[in-house]
Amino acid sequence: MDKAKRHTKTKQMVMDVLDNAQSALCQEDIGARLAREMDRVTLYRILQSFCDDGKVHKFFGDNGKTYYARCRDCSTGHHHDNHPHFRCLQCDTITCIARPLAAQPLPSGYRTASAASLIVGYCPECENEG
Ligand SMILES: [Zn+2]
Ligand SMILES: [Zn+2]
Ligand SMILES: [Zn+2]
Repeated sequence: MDKAKRHTKTKQMVMDVLDNAQSALCQEDIGARLAREMDRVTLYRILQSFCDDGKVHKFFGDNGKTYYARCRDCSTGHHHDNHPHFRCLQCDTITCIARPLAAQPLPSGYRTASAASLIVGYCPECENEG
């Protein structure tokens, strides 16, 4: 297999992990789910290129880690992922909440680039457990 083909396959492998995930994943989570080991720099670069392509968006969790999740209808250079993310205190999964965030009225001179926020609580699964 030539180098370019192998690279495409590697990217597909990472995309599959994100596609199959029901929640947002941090880089370590993604690395752990990959069929074979990948060095951190390669994985980071792949995730970065997905972000540039409008396929994946990233955001910070309240633990300081960067999380990645599949985009729905973003395109290259145009992300519109202004939805909140929800972290469950019980199972620690982070999910995209597919509800657009109401734009905050800002004082003049401020311009919003991203309004994603993080909500912390209990997910339906954990809530139903007891
Ligand atoms: Zn996006
Ligand atoms: Zn939960
Ligand atoms: Zn999201």
